[in-house]
Amino acid sequence: MRRLYEPAAYGPAPGCFWAEGVTPPDWPELAGAHQTDVAVIGGGYTGLTAGLTLAEAGTDCLLLEAEAPGWGASGRNGGFCCLGGAKAPEALLRRRFGAEGLAEWHATQVASIETVAGLIARHGIACDTHSRGETQLAHNPRAARGFEAEARATEAAYGVTPEILPAEALPGAGLGGGFHGALTTPLGFALHPRKYHHGLARAATEAGLRAFGSSPVIALSRDGAGWRLDTPRGRVRAKAVLIATNGYSSEDLPDWLAGRTLPVQSSIILTRPLEAAEAEAQGWHSEQMCYDSRELLHYFRRLPDGRFLFGMRGGLHATPRAQARIARKIRGDFARLFPAWSEVEITHEWSGLVCLMANLTPFAGPVPGHPGLFAALGYHGNGVAMASHLGGEVARKILSPETALPRAVAAPPRRFPLGRFRRALLAPAYLAAETLDL
Ligand SMILES: Cc1cc2nc3c(=O)[nH]c(=O)nc-3n(C[C@H](O)[C@H](O)[C@H](O)COP(=O)(O)OP(=O)(O)OC[C@H]3O[C@@H](n4cnc5c(N)ncnc54)[C@H](O)[C@@H]3O)c2cc1C
Repeated sequence: MRRLYEPAAYGPAPGCFWAEGVTPPDWPELAGAHQTDVAVIGGGYTGLTAGLTLAEAGTDCLLLEAEAPGWGASGRNGGFCCLGGAKAPEALLRRRFGAEGLAEWHATQVASIETVAGLIARHGIACDTHSRGETQLAHNPRAARGFEAEARATEAAYGVTPEILPAEALPGAGLGGGFHGALTTPLGFALHPRKYHHGLARAATEAGLRAFGSSPVIALSRDGAGWRLDTPRGRVRAKAVLIATNGYSSEDLPDWLAGRTLPVQSSIILTRPLEAAEAEAQGWHSEQMCYDSRELLHYFRRLPDGRFLFGMRGGLHATPRAQARIARKIRGDFARLFPAWSEVEITHEWSGLVCLMANLTPFAGPVPGHPGLFAALGYHGNGVAMASHLGGEVARKILSPETALPRAVAAPPRRFPLGRFRRALLAPAYLAAETLDL
């Protein structure tokens, strides 16, 4: 597997809170020769929802995960099940896909939240949900002044009416912290990402999915009309293959993927449970999932057990020096935004990889020029809902080629410039965003 970052970026996340007190499903290592209709590479939300959909349709399906269940971003994320998935501005989406394609993309985002809510309800997944929609907090007065226009745009696009709170109303809403206003969009909710992941895994295997862990696909090659997948101790012949590796993708699996994804690190810290007096001192007792209006945004929420989760972009590199720098930065930003908690113990800290695409939109569908090969990936750091949704959608496409996927995700991904040096694109992009955030 040829990958873009230093090996540490592909290591475990020992400080990840979500693994605590949660029993992972038992996925054996693949050994020997197997056959299946569809082989899925990657056991996160994309792979599992695809596997679940295929298994429920009675299709034989086998999933190969390189590591343990929930090891990727699906077991490490902030748990914001919300709108999003693309980074392309609305005007660009309209130009590329027309007004209808843009409307379809808005509907896809709403549908993706409904997909997660439906999966949780249908399979009885207990995953600590909370928060009524998502709240954006203005980091400066200019951002707050923009909320009225943003609310109207959200109303037109998503058919819901956001609520705006001025700065003086924030303490009463339990959103203390020096923000300049709030805009709540009543779509989405928060969840425990690993409980959700393991619930999906249970549902999928009960439906008939054969899932294997510690089974990295190390080679993918054509085998007659189908495909052959090799793992260190086993091999699989499949009629069709789905690549569901998102930020953990390899440049050579398949070669077509080289240069088409740009993994980016995201980092999270978590405090110990806050005492009532501590919450009071900061004026924060809301359980809303929130983010601020910066270009390089911070995302945060108080968990049901009183801990506070705070996340932001991660380092440009996965070297010990870069990791130490980002650890200092995330603590500094946290202390600046929530000064009353600057001395509160941080008990957990971890990072993981999200996936950007050159088109600035996710991709789901058949891989051009590779019959029987499919991919779904590139959620731009917003994949709890979108990965769960597009996993099912791409599975339906595998089952029935005439299935139409939303235009915004069906467009095949372009290659980034600079090839294997494309990470160099991030530093100036971050700098420009930081300048805008001043
Ligand atoms: C720190 C962090 C915070 C985030 N917060 C949020 C959030 O709050 N809300 C939100 O919507 N999104 C968030 N995201 C993004 C979201 O988690 C992802 O978009 C989503 O989980 C992607 O799911 P996936 O199944 O496509 O990929 P992943 O969950 O990353 O799974 C890919 C899997 O593929 C496996 N794999 C890779 N190569 C191979 C191979 N050769 N053989 C076998 N297996 C392989 C990997 O081991 C991995 O488990 C966050 C991500 C991170 C890292």
